[in-house]
Amino acid sequence: MNIHEYQAKAVLKEFGVPVSRGVPILKASEAEAAAKELGGPLWVVKSQIHAGGRGKGKFKEASAGDKGGVRLAKSVDEVKEFSRQMLGATLVTIQTGPAGKQVNRLYIEEGSDIEKELYLSALVDRETSEIAFVVSTEGGMDIEKVAHDTPEKIVTFSVDPATGIMPHHGRTAAQALNLKGDLAKQAEKLIAQLYTAFVAKDMAMLEINPLIITKQGDLRCLDAKISFDSNALYRHPDIVALRDTTEEDAKEIEASKYDLAYIALDGTIGCMVNGAGLAMATLDIIKLYGESPANFLDVGGGATEEKVTAAFKIITADPNVKGILVNIFGGIMKCDVIARGVIAAVKAVGLQVPLVVRLEGTNVEEGKTIIRESGLNVLPADDLDDAAQKIVNAVKGK
Ligand code: GDP
Ligand code: MG
Repeated sequence: MNIHEYQAKAVLKEFGVPVSRGVPILKASEAEAAAKELGGPLWVVKSQIHAGGRGKGKFKEASAGDKGGVRLAKSVDEVKEFSRQMLGATLVTIQTGPAGKQVNRLYIEEGSDIEKELYLSALVDRETSEIAFVVSTEGGMDIEKVAHDTPEKIVTFSVDPATGIMPHHGRTAAQALNLKGDLAKQAEKLIAQLYTAFVAKDMAMLEINPLIITKQGDLRCLDAKISFDSNALYRHPDIVALRDTTEEDAKEIEASKYDLAYIALDGTIGCMVNGAGLAMATLDIIKLYGESPANFLDVGGGATEEKVTAAFKIITADPNVKGILVNIFGGIMKCDVIARGVIAAVKAVGLQVPLVVRLEGTNVEEGKTIIRESGLNVLPADDLDDAAQKIVNAVKGK
């Protein structure tokens, strides 16, 4: 789960991490009070969307101006003007895709005087099973280019969970960031605070870009992006409360109500599969035969008829879906349950596109019989290869 920058900063502040003062607003009419509360003389008006690259982003609407999604304001009037321009407009960044994202919230922040921009992030490193830090002296809006062109400027180190964060980790970070004296001390403290926050809140990823050195000689986190481990959210109701569903895919929200593992993709073939491994294999084989999946969907091991019906409705509600492939290997999941779920869903929402069903495993004959006798126009398939070819051909109109 992702949260907004201003929320991430509030979470980090609980752990003592240095961030700027700021006020989130939802309406342009709140801009003046926010600006006056912060005092100035410099403010930053920041679009809050779940995507990075806002500074270099462009608004679709000409009325929003061409100054990007993060703007420095030198007066209360400018804060008001930028707020009016940006709220409600659609910001396109390298991370939003061409459709962009509507800006529904702004964060008005006190402006910092930047001496230098650094980069710092932390993530769970699957290879070492440890939390790894990634730091670079080359922070700011071009970190992707730094990683690509000059990877030697990026330093990583990981923290052994048995010892936890140690002073030497902080020293490694300070050295990699080329910080001396008091700034090095600040970096050591910051690394410990960030690690503590990361573990305490079950984060999956934390990115501070830029981490800045101010002209006054302080380290400060100027941007913050956090994503949390969804499997651990049950123990963080305070984090769950920060969820902004307007930033999420409507189909994914619907799927989460039924505990379905669903990820929207941009292809044309809707897939209903049980088991993550089989789902991955199904996506691969659709690609192999020249089409693209519209989603990843794992209905799970013990899906009920109601869950299958919900899953099918989510798939058919997607206008990009030009064909559906149901691929079930019945183990705990029974083929007849799947068959009944599919039929119930088709009866409820209709079937506008070709449907290929491949069933195998427990109660397979019963499942096939149910489908055959339903009178629905379903293309049966014997194995995964056959099923994938059939749905790809059907979508291509062959
Ligand atoms: P992003 O583009 O989505 O990563 O948004 P950031 O929060 O990182 O802001 C983009 C850029 O705006 C930063 O890299 C800074 O150069 C600039 N910026 C943000 N806040 C301030 C500030 O307080 N003072 C100054 N001078 N520049 C800022
Ligand atoms: Mg940034």
